[in-house]
Amino acid sequence: AQKIKFPTPLVEMQGDEMTRILWDYIKEKLLEPYVELNTDYYDLGLENREETADSVTAAAAAAIKKYGVGVKCATITPNAQRVEEYKLSKMWLSPNGTIRATLDGTVFRAPILAEGIMPYIPAWKKPITIARHAYGDVYKNCEIRVDGDAKAELCITYSDGRVVKNTIADIKGCGIVQGIHNLDESVSSFCRSTFNYALETKQDVWFATKDTISKTYDGRFKDIFASIFEKEYKERFKSAGINYDYSLIDDSVARVVKSGGGFIWALKNYDGDVLSDMVATAYGSLAMMTSVLVSPDNKFEYEAAHGTVTRHYYKHLKGEPTSTNSVATIFAWTGALNKRGELDSVPALCSFSKKLEGAVLTAISSGFMTNDLAPLFKKENVKVTSLNSFEFIDKIKEFLDNVMFKIMI
Ligand code: NAD
Repeated sequence: AQKIKFPTPLVEMQGDEMTRILWDYIKEKLLEPYVELNTDYYDLGLENREETADSVTAAAAAAIKKYGVGVKCATITPNAQRVEEYKLSKMWLSPNGTIRATLDGTVFRAPILAEGIMPYIPAWKKPITIARHAYGDVYKNCEIRVDGDAKAELCITYSDGRVVKNTIADIKGCGIVQGIHNLDESVSSFCRSTFNYALETKQDVWFATKDTISKTYDGRFKDIFASIFEKEYKERFKSAGINYDYSLIDDSVARVVKSGGGFIWALKNYDGDVLSDMVATAYGSLAMMTSVLVSPDNKFEYEAAHGTVTRHYYKHLKGEPTSTNSVATIFAWTGALNKRGELDSVPALCSFSKKLEGAVLTAISSGFMTNDLAPLFKKENVKVTSLNSFEFIDKIKEFLDNVMFKIMI
């Protein structure tokens, strides 16, 4: 049969460790036999970032801006140990941070629910989608280690020469100081992408910050959301039958745990980082969480929410079998291919993406899965078959070929 073609290149970003190995295997088994992958390829593996002084990450981000859709494998964010391990000349920044800073926008993370996989929180019957603001705060901070008595000040020098100064603390002895920022424009686009996504998916929005403590900083987030909602979205939400709800972050966490799911939880950058792992794990496994960065000018970057699964990679290098779940990585590809299909008007590409997602979910609900999911699976008359990383992908291919074949006859 003819392979599916699409005209605009898809920006492909290869990554590190176990996810790098699975990336190639997914392409070989589940994509290349059916789709002529027209990709603009960037190797964001740590070795190549070192070799290119990280210019490859900037080039990849620019390519997403140009072509509109990217798919990214998990990558190592270097820390001191990685600098040693990979003999790095510099502790390169997080590639995700660089891409987010270039595209701005909001990261939407939603769990993939498969029949038979029971969430750790049984009340969560519907997915909770996390909308994480992807700009600023602690991810673009400025930090100083203070090694003696000192006065720490926050100082703003306006371009017209005005100066505003505030004392942070009179430091006695040693300490630490941090400066963070955000921009009205970025918070506004975070707000609008979240509200647009809510209208598109017909789900309520819950937004939470700590504005009782951070009256100016978090207070600004709260006010921007309230004003944009009132002026631009109130009526549209009403006719769509959905709601916007603001609360304090601690109250919100408590209410989310008791909820049944089925809404968008809008969170500031750090809250979104931490709580998306909690939500993903509670739904079953970190490997069942998708992640898409949507920029205000509608550029899309798809990836898995998890990291490079280092522990499995070292087992793999020793020749030991691994049971790494590739579902979120496969869904990153299907999400990106589906979006490319929508933008380029290639329905066959959209329909292939849905079939591949269907094959993944059918494999799991038929009892075939990796070890992270096995203890959570409960379905009458279906026994669990635990598979290793590669067997699982092979099994998905069997289910995919089954539907592809049925379509052809
Ligand atoms: P990780 O997500 O790779 O793994 C955390 C734990 O979750 C693992 O111990 C593993 O048991 C489990 N897990 C995660 N994904 C799994 C999968 N697909 N199948 C089975 N189990 C899975 O996070 P980490 O160990 O904190 O970080 C490893 C590396 O990944 C670090 O270098 C970090 O910088 C990087 N990282 C990258 C991204 C990204 O690129 N988006 C995100 C997080 C971490």
